[in-house]
Amino acid sequence: MRPLIAGNWKMNGSRAAMAEVSALAAAHPAPGCDVMLCPPAPLLPIMVEAASGTKIAVGAQDCHANVSGAHTGDTSATLIAELGATAVIVGHSERRADHGETDAAIAAKAAAAHQAGLIAIICIGETEAERDAGRALEVARSQLAGSLPAGATAANTVIAYEPVWAIGTGKVASVADIDEVHSALRTALADLMSAEDAAATRLLYGGSVKPGNAAEIFAVTDVNGALVGGASLKAADFGGIIAAAE
Ligand code: PEP
Repeated sequence: MRPLIAGNWKMNGSRAAMAEVSALAAAHPAPGCDVMLCPPAPLLPIMVEAASGTKIAVGAQDCHANVSGAHTGDTSATLIAELGATAVIVGHSERRADHGETDAAIAAKAAAAHQAGLIAIICIGETEAERDAGRALEVARSQLAGSLPAGATAANTVIAYEPVWAIGTGKVASVADIDEVHSALRTALADLMSAEDAAATRLLYGGSVKPGNAAEIFAVTDVNGALVGGASLKAADFGGIIAAAE
């Protein structure tokens, strides 16, 4: 399976940061994995232009479930696709926490992404309290089942397992914990999609992935890439993670 290394710039970046896109493309002109950057929505067309002619795909960080309407501040999947992006992250834990997004809302967003021809990168993951209570697998399975829309396939869907306590904290899940959750997710997918799609859907790990820890994470059987926050902002760091996936 070809890995996907996707960078989530969160609420960071600017026009000037397009220099990082050019530097990344220059350092990895023909990467041996899929590479994607997800900037804040206003930067989408600017990054699409900066990445044009390179192997870097562009994704959004969220979309609305509706195609249009009275939803101030939101962005439709249709517009994201029209701007040249090919994917959208949905259900990031920061949106689940900051905006109260439920599994059902996230499934509706993912369905809208599919309708618009976008890949939906669906994020799931337990909080520290849930892990401490021994509920990590239960939470991952339940969020997966609740957030995956009908019609999800290996071609239009990527799952990102991101333990909330590992995001932006420098704490990384152990290889054994990542292995346990990813293999449970692979099994769970078989009840939600065809056997072929369940086997071919990419499962990303996310949570403080850096050039120094990426190789051991990518060595886990059911890890098919990473969703990277902080380390995606600088071409040198993100490039180190891409090199580890290659
Ligand atoms: C993320 O934002 O999805 C993420 C994994 O962040 P970080 O790599 O900074 O932990």
